[in-house]
Amino acid sequence: MQEKTFQKVMVANRGEIAIRIFRACYDLGLRTVAIYSNEDTYSLFRTRADEAYLVGRNQSPLAAYLDIPAIITLAQRRGVDAIHPGYGFLSENADFAKACEEAGITFVGPSSRVLAQMGDKLAAKATAIACGVPIIPGSTEPLKDADEAVEKALSYGFPVILKAAAGGGGRGMRRCDSEEEVRRNFELVKGEAKKAFGNDDIFIEKYLVEPKHIEVQILADQYGNVVHLGERDCSLQRRYQKVVEFAPAWSVPQEVRDALHADAVKIAKHVGYVNAGTVEFLVDKNGGHYFIEMNPRIQVEHTVTEMVTGIDLVRAQLLIAEGCPLSDPRIGMAKQENLNVNGYAIQCRVTTEDPANHFAPDTGKITAYRSGGGFGVRLDGGNAYTGAVISPYYDSLLVKVTSWDNTFEGTCNKARRAISEEHVRGVKTNIPFITNILAHPLFRAGQCHTKFIDEAPELFE
Ligand code: ADP
Repeated sequence: MQEKTFQKVMVANRGEIAIRIFRACYDLGLRTVAIYSNEDTYSLFRTRADEAYLVGRNQSPLAAYLDIPAIITLAQRRGVDAIHPGYGFLSENADFAKACEEAGITFVGPSSRVLAQMGDKLAAKATAIACGVPIIPGSTEPLKDADEAVEKALSYGFPVILKAAAGGGGRGMRRCDSEEEVRRNFELVKGEAKKAFGNDDIFIEKYLVEPKHIEVQILADQYGNVVHLGERDCSLQRRYQKVVEFAPAWSVPQEVRDALHADAVKIAKHVGYVNAGTVEFLVDKNGGHYFIEMNPRIQVEHTVTEMVTGIDLVRAQLLIAEGCPLSDPRIGMAKQENLNVNGYAIQCRVTTEDPANHFAPDTGKITAYRSGGGFGVRLDGGNAYTGAVISPYYDSLLVKVTSWDNTFEGTCNKARRAISEEHVRGVKTNIPFITNILAHPLFRAGQCHTKFIDEAPELFE
């Protein structure tokens, strides 16, 4: 393997993550290329790149960012060396990674082979089994029909969960508490899976009651070196989607965290993983841990890991893609012992959603915006500024507010203060809801599990 130096990097994404990646590129002295859809003509991110090109002139707002041939052709024409896919859109698409490989453009992420293996939850579970990593009891092959699902459910005991093998983003999952519910949800989940992911393979597993969602950040270079950068607690969820994340997962016993780290590294090594990735686990009340999936890309919540480790994950991704080893001083992870987790970080996802109205996305013009700040506060935004127009076409993330301090309590206080400094006029936001989470005694005591938000009506007051 040889190190190559990039000159120009394209980001096949939009919004905050595009800006986040451009920043890392500039810090490395690289030129940047943005793509944007018609609907994003006036979005901030495209002005943050050295060059920006419209894709999918006559396509839907989402299709523009999913148009593999158009993106590859553009990248070739503009002399792009590498494409960073961000998260969502094409980031886990093995066909896209393959198209990049075939076009002689570096895909900033793992190989198409690994993406294909990890994109399917059943295949990923099979990998975990092969590594001796515990998984949740469940089917290992796609379910044939509802009868088979019921038969399995009865053997695991209720509750169970039906899941789309190709699922992501909290979609294509339904809990079932009875035989009747399994039958009813079987077709529903299958239909959702087909519609959302173009693949109607579904499987069933035991539903864990009140687990924590703990995930391990991995970095792997092209020379077989794999390290972990500690873990994140992402248990604060609504509809299986993360709302507030923090690092480290201090309320989980150290020996459990050690086991998660070891298992995550084992899986990454086993599949020949290269670049940044996240191995996700559920941890039950007894400290039992179970692999659920691997996300072969940068994650929204990577900021908390950066804050406590001091390692720039997106820069590391670019350097690894260039062929640099983990020992490169700009990454600084020659050995696992180099990892130094310092203090506590909390990321809050400020969205343009109205908590008083079932989190319905709000749209319109931001008539006034003032940001929070101060020592240990970091903002990653895409369209948080006065005059920005929030459209209905894309996700409702406005700004990620990540706070750091040397105690968890201090970080909660700081996060709450920073959030209270965020003033947004013209569109509704979830700021009051987040403020309630940060003040909640169970959150501060580290006692939150994945159902906490659903069971705490006081958060909505
Ligand atoms: P996605 O790929 O859509 O993000 P995941 O498999 O990562 O889906 O699961 C997302 C969340 O769904 C988990 O963090 C957890 O809250 C819930 N979940 C998934 N599987 C189970 C399960 N077997 N038992 C209980 N909760 C689950």
